[in-house]
Amino acid sequence: MAWGAFDKLRKGLRKTRDGIVGRLGDIFGGRVRLDPETLDAIEEMLISADLGVQASLRITRSIEKRVKEEGGESSLESVLEVIRKDITATLRDAKPRIKVRSWDEAGDDSPKKKGKKGRKLEREPETVPEIRPGVPQVIFVVGVNGTGKTTTIAKLAHYYKQEGRKVMVAAGDTFRAAAVEQLTIWADRIGVDCIQQGQNADPAAVVFDALQAAEARGHDLVIVDTAGRLHTKSSLMDELGKVARVIHKKIGRDPETLLVVDANTGQNGLQQAKVFAETVPVDGLVLTKLDGTAKGGIVVAIAETLGLPVLWIGVGETVEDIAPFDPEIFARALFSDGEGETTTA
Ligand code: GDP
Repeated sequence: MAWGAFDKLRKGLRKTRDGIVGRLGDIFGGRVRLDPETLDAIEEMLISADLGVQASLRITRSIEKRVKEEGGESSLESVLEVIRKDITATLRDAKPRIKVRSWDEAGDDSPKKKGKKGRKLEREPETVPEIRPGVPQVIFVVGVNGTGKTTTIAKLAHYYKQEGRKVMVAAGDTFRAAAVEQLTIWADRIGVDCIQQGQNADPAAVVFDALQAAEARGHDLVIVDTAGRLHTKSSLMDELGKVARVIHKKIGRDPETLLVVDANTGQNGLQQAKVFAETVPVDGLVLTKLDGTAKGGIVVAIAETLGLPVLWIGVGETVEDIAPFDPEIFARALFSDGEGETTTA
């Protein structure tokens, strides 16, 4: 990651960092002593940043061990290193804990269907979408309304356009007129094609149209918006599954599915993510609005609870405010003292 990007990430994560690193610094003045009050305070700070109880307890125990090893008193940097190491490992080693594996069995809670023979939409174990000539890669963006889905699509479109890809967006959230309109405006602004059929159009038809157009015009990436109403698992699956099947038929494989989660919604966001991930096959998460929260630790709680990889994080409202997620860089941006901070804004 370029220096400028790391700096931006650090700034975006300032609220959470101030909440933990700042408070640790204020309380201990750079030295951490081994006593129950200190350990309680550390644990409480980690929990308040939404890292989850399990991770907070584990990290506090590791800190206790480190301080003991260092003779009963450690530097703040030494403590931060323990936190960084734990978080990097937790995020890197997260293994999916969600059962849904393909669009074919998605939305069905019955275990018998999981072993069904002749399943057409089986996903490969590792979804690493490669670019195939003449066949566009499709990113399918799902999530509850208001989480930042449309903005994320614009950010991804902009990111990939900068990378030299020929990007198209498809306004598949036809339930909300504003969603179609907003995506069209973003597409215009960043200079990518947008396929839309207005409000109440059939999302599957919009996506079919988009894929036809992408093939005809030589686009290599189509990013699809979807409806974000969360009523019941089956209606969610009906809506999303129909579109996913159109994509599969057209490109010969499942789309890469990204679930957008608003970091500000904390434990609620985690629950939402769980419902989605149990209903449709999610490849990874985009965690948005990390800049607006002091609870950026939710990334860790999500990795521990769902085991789904966080692939992108959103740290602001402009199209530039997105970063590919890297556990080590994230841990360093969140839990380091002063390094790389060029302004305090
Ligand atoms: P959608 O309903 O899920 O499509 O959500 P939108 O993309 O319309 O976003 C909802 C609001 O969240 C808008 O005001 C966005 O500007 C804002 N937003 C989206 N992503 C971020 C982010 O990473 N940081 C901040 N601060 N705001 C964001």
